[in-house]
Amino acid sequence: MPTILIVEDDALLLDALTGQLQQLEFSVYTASSVAEATTLLQGQAVDGIILDLGLPGGADGMELLTWARTHIAGLPVLILTARDGIDDRIHGLNAGADDYITKPFNMQELQARLQAMLRRARQPAFTQASSASGGPSTAIGSLQIDHGNRSAVLGGEPLELTQREWELLELLVNRCGEVVTRDDVLAAWRAGPPEPGQAAAAPLNSNALEVYVHRLRRKLDASNLVIRNIRGLGYMLAKPAE
Ligand code: CA
Repeated sequence: MPTILIVEDDALLLDALTGQLQQLEFSVYTASSVAEATTLLQGQAVDGIILDLGLPGGADGMELLTWARTHIAGLPVLILTARDGIDDRIHGLNAGADDYITKPFNMQELQARLQAMLRRARQPAFTQASSASGGPSTAIGSLQIDHGNRSAVLGGEPLELTQREWELLELLVNRCGEVVTRDDVLAAWRAGPPEPGQAAAAPLNSNALEVYVHRLRRKLDASNLVIRNIRGLGYMLAKPAE
């Protein structure tokens, strides 16, 4: 599921938003100032930001928006603010925000607009992935993965993957028809960004790997792709023709 950064200095609102989005199975990072958010974004990949404008610490949300626009290409930003003047809205949207919601707001509307924003953000990436001249992508059977933006499409439908599922899938695809050892996967996970949410607490070991392989198999159910157990060694993505 998507990973969202919420930048909000109202602790109660931050808690409420975080809880709601986690119920929708979003992975959520939080920050209460621009400095905190910038530091986090330098070490973490996120799919989108919910951004408050009035923030403590001398820098307001517009500065983070500007920073994100110059440092992270295509990152969708939804401004959630008490500033409800038409000038504020125009300023925010002109500065590159993808949507603008004023407080007080309706939680269901926020969720719907957030989902719509994330869908729009994914659209161009898939077009690029399917173009012959696009970024690095690999197609096996009905599965197409885009290495640049860490996304996958199965039978034309976006495949929702957590960070660890993505890393596992990419390894298997890169070495389709070859054995990928448990150590290979664990090393890739340790090198990658930590998975936010509940899974972050889970230790990286063979048991965790089995869980992720199981989940990935279920997600690939609709395809002709099979992840085989290679006893005592690891796993292999079988070539579809085999
Ligand atoms: Ca605020």
